[in-house]
Amino acid sequence: MRYTSTRGQAPILDFADVLLAGLAPDGGLYVPERWPTVAPAEIASFVTRPYAEVATDIMARFTEPAVPRAELAPIVATAYRDFDHPAVAPLRQLDAGEWILELFHGPTISFKDYALQVVGLLFDHVLAQRSLHMTVVGATSGDTGSAAIEAVRDRKSITAFILHPEGRVTDVQRRQMTTVPAANIHNIAIQGTFDDCQALVKQMFGDASFRDRLRLTAVNSINWARVMAQVVYYFTASAALGAPHRVPAFAVPTGNFGDAFAGHVARRMGLAVPQMVIATNRNDILVRLLNTGRYRKGAVYASLTPSIDIQVSSNFERLLLELEGNDATAVRRHMSGFDASGEFRLSDTAMAKMRAQFDGAAVSEDDTLRCMREVESRSGLVIDPHTAVGIVAGRARRRYLGVPMVYLSTAHAAKFPEAVERATRRDAPLPARLADLHARQERFAVLPNDLRRVKAYVEERAAA
Ligand SMILES: *Cc1c(COP(=O)(O)O)cnc(C)c1O
Repeated sequence: MRYTSTRGQAPILDFADVLLAGLAPDGGLYVPERWPTVAPAEIASFVTRPYAEVATDIMARFTEPAVPRAELAPIVATAYRDFDHPAVAPLRQLDAGEWILELFHGPTISFKDYALQVVGLLFDHVLAQRSLHMTVVGATSGDTGSAAIEAVRDRKSITAFILHPEGRVTDVQRRQMTTVPAANIHNIAIQGTFDDCQALVKQMFGDASFRDRLRLTAVNSINWARVMAQVVYYFTASAALGAPHRVPAFAVPTGNFGDAFAGHVARRMGLAVPQMVIATNRNDILVRLLNTGRYRKGAVYASLTPSIDIQVSSNFERLLLELEGNDATAVRRHMSGFDASGEFRLSDTAMAKMRAQFDGAAVSEDDTLRCMREVESRSGLVIDPHTAVGIVAGRARRRYLGVPMVYLSTAHAAKFPEAVERATRRDAPLPARLADLHARQERFAVLPNDLRRVKAYVEERAAA
């Protein structure tokens, strides 16, 4: 498969180069030149096959010839080997016609593991082939750092530095990052805020000689490989419920539009998903777009669902290209307007296409808590607040009562114990794999919010 940029002015690359590049040099996002397809008989076969096998079949369509199927298969098998459910992404019935897709059976109990476990191994594979070493530098407010760390731990070709604001992440969040006993992982607690951490990372990337000397990279959510890995569970969940004959609708809690776009890709590949519901909290740029035809940046509010507190949905640019009839010039015009004024407007034609394929709802904190409480009291199931956002939005926008609805459960409840306690008065115990988290040895450095000091720290250890 070859890849082009959404903005049309970057070199066409194969999968391995797209993986390492992340963002395209013209500022766009890489997308496959065409959508590979999955025939109905093959979709039907997924229901009886192991997750890793299906994942290999789907992803090989995107990675070949750069990463041939024979090289991909062991990578994917390793990536999902330690998930704590044999089905990897199991469905659980919530009510008549309603299902929860549990995407929290990986090492950090959030759905990000499903993509990052594969991406970390793919990075290592491609870097080893090229005899290259790279330095991952990232900032986290606590939520996503652990998935990145678990993805690259013990990889020979990568050294990683993850900055978090000292004292401003929860105990569980910090411990999930700082108890990983891998020599290539460096946690740095910055004496400052998350914004300070982000600014430090940005400044390190902004220093061209530092960036090139250390081969800095970010394993961020615009990387095509992450979207690719997320396509898989739309197929496996649909097959489990009867696809290709009966395909469920999906409701997806999303901020960056990565997960919802992956569902759209499954559609482009031949899965007849009847409805996709975009579920957001008060940070509702995508829902406002659906309602008004204007894509407009907003203030970011802190919520009970911090993983979707985002007001610029980077991955939307991939859908935008399609809505504009694959006209990269139109994407370029929109995005430069967005950079200049923080907004752009879509044509009626483009909006009609979008509304035909997506519904959306922004869910209030009260409704999120009420849903968590109601699910717990009706079924005994303790869900995380992001999952609740998906359920509320899916129920509000459901188009076809005869079509089952699948809600993506993007985190284990134990990841957000304060919200669980508030909603249900219950605590949310950690799953077995993390049960001894509070007894594990922590290891991290504390540094002042000082670029010079942080760079010196990184440089010394990246070289070692
Ligand atoms: C990252 C994350 C999401 C949103 O993912 P998108 O890439 O924005 O679709 C939803 N829920 C949880 C728990 C997450 O960590």
